[in-house]
Amino acid sequence: MIEIEHLTKVYGTHEAVSDLSFRVESGQIYGFLGPNGAGKSTTMNIMTGCLSATSGQVCIDGYDIFEEPQKAKKLIGYLPEHPPLYPNETPLEYLRFVGEAKGLRGEELERQIGEVVAQTKIESVQGRRICTLSKGFQQRVGIAQALLGNPSIIVLDEPTVGLDPIQIIEIRALIKELGHRHTVIFSSHILSEVQNICDQILILSKGHLVAFDTPENLERQMLRSNEISLVTEASPDEALHILCQVEGVTDSQLSPREDGLLQIHLSSDCDDLTALCRRLFFAFAGQNRALLELSSKKASLEDVFLELTEQNDALPQAPEDPKAPESSKSPQGPESSQNFEERQGSDQ
Ligand code: ADP
Ligand code: MG
Repeated sequence: MIEIEHLTKVYGTHEAVSDLSFRVESGQIYGFLGPNGAGKSTTMNIMTGCLSATSGQVCIDGYDIFEEPQKAKKLIGYLPEHPPLYPNETPLEYLRFVGEAKGLRGEELERQIGEVVAQTKIESVQGRRICTLSKGFQQRVGIAQALLGNPSIIVLDEPTVGLDPIQIIEIRALIKELGHRHTVIFSSHILSEVQNICDQILILSKGHLVAFDTPENLERQMLRSNEISLVTEASPDEALHILCQVEGVTDSQLSPREDGLLQIHLSSDCDDLTALCRRLFFAFAGQNRALLELSSKKASLEDVFLELTEQNDALPQAPEDPKAPESSKSPQGPESSQNFEERQGSDQ
């Protein structure tokens, strides 16, 4: 188990990580999600003992990473953002070097090398120089070195960055597999990746933890932002009368159009939007008022992410209290349809 309390890292005058507190339980896959510059690598470097903190505490299975670094680090295997590979060595030479640095010797060293080579499926390239390997294989070698010493926790910083689509699928599958035997924490700025692989998602924004929950709960949180849009020939009074009899409508905005029709935007916390659309259709039809358009939009995890990071953008210095991991903060405000991928590259 990892316990992080009030972790803060300041570079010069810039607070890269702000009063971060959370707990990682054993046996699950955790995804660190956040745009570039959110503080993912800084947090991972600190929790793996590669970087000092300005203040705060990190305990790995009860060992303080700053006070008992050797004991704490033994429990963690780390693949940093830039894998520390030696390009002129072969994977086998490199793994032997790392294994020895981790204190493995003789038969045990050879046994573990064999095991991690098989686990990461690098047998076919184990005798080739690392600089001649594809980025996907290099990433596997990096993961293999993290696995040496059989640490209970594996930390991977953006393991799929720079890989082609097939390599990405392979590495994701490998992460899932590692999750059967290890606690895995990996970072990504790709929402779908985290959503599909992780049991728990931590969303970082400008060094603040803005959400910590399961993918399902984060999506559920956004249910009330589900939207239905319709156009009817009913008058505003008639429409209001009909709508108040339809179960699942939480809010409505009516805008008469120039062509005499009525545009209505509804929000709903109803999970089954199709059922709600059916109820609306028959409610209007039952009053002999035609619906001329009817469409629905379900809020996605991407909306949650944008809500949370945009909220934090509006309050750059807000002293959020991100301690409670059991439920993330509830997002407010208008839903955004901007594509998350379009926002990449805006390092702060
Ligand atoms: P992420 O991994 O989420 O992209 P980082 O942890 O790398 O974010 O960076 C968080 C913030 O800290 C960024 O604004 C980055 O520019 C800054 N930063 C990271 N490393 C350093 C450093 N060594 N010196 C100064 N600023 C840094
Ligand atoms: Mg990073």
